[in-house]
Parts: sequence; C-alpha cells; structure tokens
Amino acid sequence: MRIFHILAICLCILAPARVVAEPDEADRAVAAYYRSITDGLEHIVLWNGAVHDVSVNAMWGSVEFDPEKVAMVIDAGKPIIYYHSHPAGFDEDGIRYPPTPSNLDFAALAWFSYLTWKENPALPISHRIVMIEEHDALVISYALASSDITRTLNNAALAATYTKERATIQDNQEKFEANFMKEYEVEKNQKIAVKLHVLKTSMRVTGTPCVSSSEKISIYFICSSTDFNIWIQGVVK
Ligand SMILES: [Zn+2]
Repeated sequence: MRIFHILAICLCILAPARVVAEPDEADRAVAAYYRSITDGLEHIVLWNGAVHDVSVNAMWGSVEFDPEKVAMVIDAGKPIIYYHSHPAGFDEDGIRYPPTPSNLDFAALAWFSYLTWKENPALPISHRIVMIEEHDALVISYALASSDITRTLNNAALAATYTKERATIQDNQEKFEANFMKEYEVEKNQKIAVKLHVLKTSMRVTGTPCVSSSEKISIYFICSSTDFNIWIQGVVK
C-alpha cells in the first residue's frame, strides 16, 4: 500500500508542470471546518471519514495534539489524513506565497507515522496542510520517502512486537523493565534518529530554493527531493 502510495507521489512530481490534483471529500470537509474556526490559531485535524480536531495548547505559531484523541482515531482502523492549518507566507516584497511544509512539519510527520503504524502497520495515512484564503483553501500534501519511511516502519513494527511481548509478562517490575529497555529504546530511536534526521534534512530541502522544481505556484517553488515530496493537493473553492 505504502509503496504504491510513494509511487503515485513520484509520478505526480515527475509529471509536467501545472498538474494539480482535485481536492477530495476530505479536503472539502476539513476546509469547511477550518472556515468555521474563529480563534485564528493553528489546528491539527484528523480525517477518517469524519473531522476530529485533536489540538491542545494552541498558541500563536504553535500547537500540540491530544495523544488520547489521536489514539481513538487510530483505533477506529480507517485510513487517516493528518491535516493542519498554516498562515500564508510573505516574501520580502510582501507578496503572499503558499505554505510549504516546514522542517518541523516533517518531523511531526515522522512522529505521527510512527504513532500510527506501531498500533496498526497496515493503516494508510497521509499528511496535508490547508491554507484558508478569503474564498479558497489551498491544500498541500507532503510525504516522507526513501530510508526515513523504511526506518519509521521498522521502528513501528519493533514497538508493536515489544508491546505484545510485554502483555505476556505477569510481573509488574519485569513489565516496567521490558517497557523501559525495549519500547522506550525504540521510541528514543524514532525520536532521535528518524525525527532528528528528518528535521535536519527537511530544513535543507525546504530552506533552499529548488533548482529542479517540478511545480510553480505563483512565485513559489514546490520542491521534491529523494527524502521528501511536496505537491499541491488542490484548491477548495
Ligand atoms: Zn506546519
């Protein structure tokens, strides 16, 4: 499933310029939800056939997620799209440009992917950013590729194995040790090795103008690299 997904992304990126996908049912529902929010803050919204706002501690420029709410959506077992909203970017001339995912967005993507797949490795997930304009909502999709996605999948599989093993241990102390020694190490690995690597590489990718840009929206280039893909999902009118 994941391989096909990546393949589809690659084809999209390699296609001639101005190939913009149509927004789907999820984009339309989530855009409508974002339009209904009036607090002006960033929100994390999960779509699995219904809209789930999992945001907590939102402040200007930052937002966290409620792990219990996210776990409930994962438990439902339906494909998930992780959305969040972005304010528009402005260049030095004050011209508005679309919200390319930041390095932190990619790091969050690595973590959400791990959290999802350690519970359900077969669950298809994807990640999108919505920028609400006055009349339109621009939806950008972004995805991990190559070794980071493989490492995330492997870490998630390892964590799932340890959770199962731990469930068979009767002694509480042993259970605690198993948790600390095994699952904790895997999570640490995901956070330090994968998340940090993703953060560092994406900082390079998203921080520099793309030479081999495949898409151009207005004045702003959407890049792809061997590690990451970014493309326009569509515009909700
Ligand atoms: Zn973001």
